[in-house]
Amino acid sequence: MEQSRHFIEQEIDKDLAEGVYEGVKTRFPPEPNGYLHIGHAKSIILNYGMAEEYGGKFNLRFDDTNPTKEKPEFVESIKEDVAWLGADWEDRLFFASNYFDQMYEYALVLVRKGKAYVSDLSADQIREYRGTLTEPGRDDPYRTRTIEENLRLFQEMKEGKYGDGEKVLRARIDMASPNINMRDPVIYRIAHMAHHNTGDKWCIYPMYDFAHPLEDAIEGITHSLCTLEFEDHRPLYNWFVKECECPHPPRQIEFAKLYLNNVVTGKRYIKKLVEDGTVDGWDDPRLVSIAGLRRRGYTPESIRHFVELCGISKAQSTAEMGMLEYCIREDLKPGVRRLMAVLNPVKLIIDNYPEGKTELLDALNNPENEELGSRKVSFSRELYIEREDFMENPPKKYFRLFPGNEVRLMHAYFVTCTGVDKDEDGNITCIHCTYDPDTKQGPEFRSDKKVKGTIHWVNAEDAVKVTARLYENIVDEEKGVYDEEGNVNLNPNSLKVCDSCYVEKELGEAVAFDRFQFVRNGYFVADPKDSMPGAPVFNRIVSLKSSFKLS
Ligand code: ATP
Ligand code: MG
Repeated sequence: MEQSRHFIEQEIDKDLAEGVYEGVKTRFPPEPNGYLHIGHAKSIILNYGMAEEYGGKFNLRFDDTNPTKEKPEFVESIKEDVAWLGADWEDRLFFASNYFDQMYEYALVLVRKGKAYVSDLSADQIREYRGTLTEPGRDDPYRTRTIEENLRLFQEMKEGKYGDGEKVLRARIDMASPNINMRDPVIYRIAHMAHHNTGDKWCIYPMYDFAHPLEDAIEGITHSLCTLEFEDHRPLYNWFVKECECPHPPRQIEFAKLYLNNVVTGKRYIKKLVEDGTVDGWDDPRLVSIAGLRRRGYTPESIRHFVELCGISKAQSTAEMGMLEYCIREDLKPGVRRLMAVLNPVKLIIDNYPEGKTELLDALNNPENEELGSRKVSFSRELYIEREDFMENPPKKYFRLFPGNEVRLMHAYFVTCTGVDKDEDGNITCIHCTYDPDTKQGPEFRSDKKVKGTIHWVNAEDAVKVTARLYENIVDEEKGVYDEEGNVNLNPNSLKVCDSCYVEKELGEAVAFDRFQFVRNGYFVADPKDSMPGAPVFNRIVSLKSSFKLS
């Protein structure tokens, strides 16, 4: 079936057919002022995808024109995340700050043409003069400075003769334009501040609206794909490209941002959670930063699938977190092994099983994928099972263990509960049962009995004690994402640490990013930060069913 092409593909097709461009060159232009999040993944995958589809080129370009918030740490994390998502920039890694000389020259082009002027108005005055949506702006009193004077003053701005905010360079466009962006926007400001790349070389820095189109033009970008909030800036984008006489005019096309319902996505909100210590860094597994999703156990494939399902359009919409979870389940279901892990253990003693005996039982690693083979699991008289798999006084339709009831121990035997031991406070310390040797699972099964419940277990003799972490949304969904002051409404149960889980022996050897299904409990990944050799810490990536509630 022919897939319908989204509007950006249609626009590119048209441009190529009409000979506007000979090939396709796209870019992802992050500002290194934080970590990337799931929204950025959409932009990365779209930009990279277009370059790939049309046999073009994809640039990773740091839009680092604002020295106040940018840091090398963010440059490194962004490179890691973009590469991890599979967007290969090859040798095309660029920094807007490397174009400062060219941008300055372009600004001079404007000044010489009488299309830019130096103004002494303060930021507040500029705002005041700008007018509103319903009222035109007023001309800046410095708008009529001569070209010679402007050239001299701009030169002096560059040389550091003026303090921050004393002067700016403005484009001379139209103070009465119905589009406020066109009312003589500021294109250079003074900031006596070191830049992470250029150091103290500059004390004037270009503004985003001026810098961005020039960066695209300098790199020969054909299609500059950006989000909808830049739609009203497009006339300005085109104005700069034209008036600066850029040889390869790029074309801006806007698409809708990716939003997730009830999820903290904005960089500045994530930053706040990191800075106030609410979360364990930018890669906290509860965040939808790319680093957080990676640490949580998401795969690049699952994120690409998700972005694909969300689609590319101009209409604003919100996606559900459940859809991202669906994508990771789909990805992991056939590919990972299903092992047994008990998150909340209680001892189960099989009183009629010989003491000191150990059997090795066959267990398929993934019944949906025979290629993953089988393994041997050890079985003996004392096991651990989930506390939730036993009830002393069960309700109707409870098919797991209770006194007198028989269940299947997965890959092993049927057992019948005979009673419990309790401590003096009445807490169950141990469950007793008997097993039926005729019910060994596999070819040796020779019983006509049937049971309704199957539970998992691990052998107490060689199970490894590990920590597992279960997550819920960091947002309190009942209250919504933000309160009146713009703080995140936190869910107090977003992290549950189970620090005495027992897992099959071989899981004790898991290393960073090893992924498994723990049968009945969900998909888990060995945490890359907190796991130690022989002592993995597991993060639950996602439960098996979307309706799953934390116990
Ligand atoms: P935030 O919106 O989280 O503050 P940002 O827009 O400030 O992020 P940039 O580094 O400027 O972050 O973004 C780089 C690119 O990613 C831009 O082209 C931007 O349009 C795009 N982008 C940012 N957020 C989203 C999103 N939610 N969906 C799709 N693209 C996005
Ligand atoms: Mg931005």
